[in-house]
Amino acid sequence: MDLDFNLMMELTEIELRLKGLDEGGKKYFKKDMTRPWSFKCSLCEKRVGSNKVDEYWSMPSTGYDRYRFCSKECADCYSKARKNELLAQRKQVMQNRKLLREFYKEAERRYMEVKRGGWVS
Ligand SMILES: [Zn+2]
Repeated sequence: MDLDFNLMMELTEIELRLKGLDEGGKKYFKKDMTRPWSFKCSLCEKRVGSNKVDEYWSMPSTGYDRYRFCSKECADCYSKARKNELLAQRKQVMQNRKLLREFYKEAERRYMEVKRGGWVS
């Protein structure tokens, strides 16, 4: 069942990303930086600078990259949308697995029929 294995891997990946969303949170700018550092909020694109504010919100994205946000509101908004997206993906993969199982069951049934009929020795 190679196909089912692939779907299972996909599910694992989705679960990991869902868990990653929970690992995001508030961060504080290091105060000993020699040069101010800034980024653009991943949601509203507001520029956030270490010389202007103390805190920001951070969340893992795919791979090694991270999403950074100007406020809890932006972080929550992103997290909620991403979560819904991932849950929809998970549902789809689970439906595909179910469909696949039904096809295999049917294939097995037909195989047994053919076998009983003496088509396959
Ligand atoms: Zn923002």
